[in-house]
Amino acid sequence: MHRHTKIIATLGPAVADGQTVRAMVEAGMDVARLNFSHGDHELHRAFVSWVREAASDAGRTVAVLQDIQGPKLRVGEFPNGQIELETGSQVRLVAEDEVGTADRIPCSYEALLADIAIGDRVLLADGLIRLEVAEHAGSHLLVEVLVGGTLSDHKGIAFPDSHLSLESVTPKDEVDLDFGRTLGVDYVAASFVRSGSDVANVASIVGDVPIVAKIELAQAYANLDEIIEESFGVMVARGDLGVQLPLERIPLIQSEILTKTNAAGRISITATEMLESMTKSARPTRAEVTDVANAVQTGTDAVMLSGETAVGDFPIESISAMSAICRAVEDGTLSERGAQPVPFVGDGNRVASAVAQAATQVAVNVEAETIVAFTESGNTARLLSKYRPEARIVAFSPNPVTRNRMAMYWGVAPHDFERATYTDDEIASASGILQKDGLVRSGDTIVMVAGVPPNVRASTNLLKVHVVGELPGGLGS
Ligand code: PGA
Ligand code: MN
Repeated sequence: MHRHTKIIATLGPAVADGQTVRAMVEAGMDVARLNFSHGDHELHRAFVSWVREAASDAGRTVAVLQDIQGPKLRVGEFPNGQIELETGSQVRLVAEDEVGTADRIPCSYEALLADIAIGDRVLLADGLIRLEVAEHAGSHLLVEVLVGGTLSDHKGIAFPDSHLSLESVTPKDEVDLDFGRTLGVDYVAASFVRSGSDVANVASIVGDVPIVAKIELAQAYANLDEIIEESFGVMVARGDLGVQLPLERIPLIQSEILTKTNAAGRISITATEMLESMTKSARPTRAEVTDVANAVQTGTDAVMLSGETAVGDFPIESISAMSAICRAVEDGTLSERGAQPVPFVGDGNRVASAVAQAATQVAVNVEAETIVAFTESGNTARLLSKYRPEARIVAFSPNPVTRNRMAMYWGVAPHDFERATYTDDEIASASGILQKDGLVRSGDTIVMVAGVPPNVRASTNLLKVHVVGELPGGLGS
């Protein structure tokens, strides 16, 4: 069976050879994520060539997503690699590039004193250690340790209550984005954005490459609507978001982000710790299986694997497990899945969205198992996908970049296509290709969505109910 929900897998040292990347593609990886917080450029370059080669050999379409580090803040180093922070004690936080001491924590953030106010919380080491700013003391901040613990070198430091004046793109990000362009990445994921203008800033650097905004700051969640507006896709980045916001609120926040993102016609991604135990175990826990299933039920376009594939002991098994969970949910009946009707997707192009919505409804009524989209930019396929049809969406595009990008769209199977001058010829040719591929048989009904005139961006305005084997004039063959 065809899987609708797409799988993003992170590449890393555990899968750093051509054979393993090939096995990932064969197991069902739809999007390969390059994590630019780790790894050198040469390894990322090798990953891209392995992915492209394996996808082409397997006859699959796989997108490459470049995830840039963004302005993530970290503490510096300590004399023996770590310090102990006692609950109830007071320590100093300094914006210096120096080695720390038992009561002095360096943090490479120049505007520390200007941006952080008294009473603001400071979270360290994944939120395990919690501090609160007690006093501005000239050259440093005096902070009280609310919950202590062991703090080691380079751990993350987060300020969920503060408005940080950091640049949204660091000098390292700029170098990485330049390099990503030479690799021909299909998407860029922007880390630690705070606002719509942060996303717009990244977009102005990458040009045509669509941006996935990672929601991983309390401030990003507060500005969710404008971030969705500026982005092509949105990721629920539960790792860092779970540090910034109370963990127990993450399930409802996830569902809100996914729902709003889908309603706006953007691509939604659920990420982090989905099958975490599989970094060390060949089978997931019941709780993890339920977590993946829940994201699918809420309507996520894609589910993501991070450490499970990048550094885990069972990368291929993780992809297979994820794929099996997605399919099992999609196999359920509408009522088992608790499926909700999809409201009209407002996306700027009302005509295309209306035609896509109608096509989805027609496919139900004529019991068509395939919807075909002819698309230059991928927009028609994306809109069809947003209406979450039971039928598979085969998206014919002559544009290889568009085909790669569509690998991330829920339910969409990208397919190569040669342009024709007349829509009738495109319909006949697509029907023939599907028949040759064994996806449809003579007499099957296909719903087709196209634009007249063909080969023009954003002109989706035609819906055809096509019976395989019938000639355009209506005469059977
Ligand atoms: P990361 O982002 O894996 O780059 O940290 C995802 C997250 O924070 O959940
Ligand atoms: Mn993160």
